[in-house]
Amino acid sequence: MNRTRRRVVGSLAAATLILTLGSISGAQATDELPIDGDVIVGDFDSGEIVGSGEPGLQALLAPTTGAGYAYTATSPTISRSYGDFTVQLVSSSRVDSLRAALQASANDINANGGASLSVSTTTVSTWPARPAAGTIYLRVDGRDSCGAAAPGTWAGCATTWIGRDDSGLGVVQAGQIWIASVAVDYTQAQQQHVLTHELGHTLGLAHYEPAFNGEYQVMHPSKYDATTLRSGDINGLRPLYQNSVSVRSQVQAMYSGLLGRSADDSGMGTWSAQIAQHGTAATARSMMSSTEYRTRVINNAYQKALGRSADSGGLSTHLRSMANGLTEQELHVTLWSSDEAWQQAGKNTSTWVTRLYQGVLGRTPSAAEVNNWVPQVNQQGRAAVARNVLRSVEHADQYINAQYQLLFARNADASGKATWRGLVQTGQQAEVTVSLMNSAEFRQRAITQFG
Ligand SMILES: [Zn+2]
Repeated sequence: MNRTRRRVVGSLAAATLILTLGSISGAQATDELPIDGDVIVGDFDSGEIVGSGEPGLQALLAPTTGAGYAYTATSPTISRSYGDFTVQLVSSSRVDSLRAALQASANDINANGGASLSVSTTTVSTWPARPAAGTIYLRVDGRDSCGAAAPGTWAGCATTWIGRDDSGLGVVQAGQIWIASVAVDYTQAQQQHVLTHELGHTLGLAHYEPAFNGEYQVMHPSKYDATTLRSGDINGLRPLYQNSVSVRSQVQAMYSGLLGRSADDSGMGTWSAQIAQHGTAATARSMMSSTEYRTRVINNAYQKALGRSADSGGLSTHLRSMANGLTEQELHVTLWSSDEAWQQAGKNTSTWVTRLYQGVLGRTPSAAEVNNWVPQVNQQGRAAVARNVLRSVEHADQYINAQYQLLFARNADASGKATWRGLVQTGQQAEVTVSLMNSAEFRQRAITQFG
């Protein structure tokens, strides 16, 4: 049976918080919860719930330990996470008063490459028995949701669902978090600690008790020192995220959209590390600075303006120019205003305007349009007119639509066009691509296509 385990991975104790505040000295937290009755074993692939107390379950509690972190399970060995999670608040007493701290936790985890968490702005009423992949549900509960622990002895607890990938390695799929009602009265910093700790569990981290780099980690079972992720917590989360379904799918989708091919192993390693460390937008910009991408752009521009691929001299000249800041749009301007394009138009201004329209806008200009542009070519030159057409609303909308088709497989809606038109009209069309790649829609589509 291809089994996936869900386990209660422990709690933070309210008693420990009191200790931190200094009012009770020496109080001992009840931290790890009893195993039997708390562990639900589910088969993620078939949806079968096979019950608790399965032989070998204890092995799950012997975590894989790394530099300042430990993973929740050894069987299956966790190798990556889903990566992209929606954190969904479920209707419960005062749950909305956790929102500020929850958003701070999500921002911290997102900024440090631990996952891509998006906190839903709505609150739902249903607490799913089994959350869908890519979701983490959270609610406030005063009862013993985490198992047998008595109210007042815990601040939060979490479960994680671990699926298997094709090679049998564990993939963190989804999670549930219970926050004790007592924790809602904590300061926002303390709430953030509890939430980051529990999110850490749902993302695959177990407790880590020793100090690392001279400090206790968020994943310490009872010390509230860390409000934000510490270096060991990040050491644990980042590799899971770097190898996540989301990040690997994004790299494949970037290769497909920008380079027109699949990612090789070395490229996958390089670019997934970049996304985990620097985010999708910076990574997209970086890939768009590659020689491979720019070569495609240059050849495409040559085809449109001159009906041929770039010769080696032209290619190296334009690669140099792009490395020095020449934009894609100005590359097109350069080629359309070249002597070669002029000769192809028979050195005739009307013909040149007609060819420019056909190449840039995909249609033949009206007589009025030709009559409008011919004197402008004579007064301002071919480059100025080519730039005008490339920056027209008509071309901007076509360009945006083509990017939507390439990256989202749909037409741009009116609001999308309105949002991005200004960038094309000011020569920053590459930023349209970057922004579209840095969207939830791109990530979700990437997972659908390549996950
Ligand atoms: Zn814990």
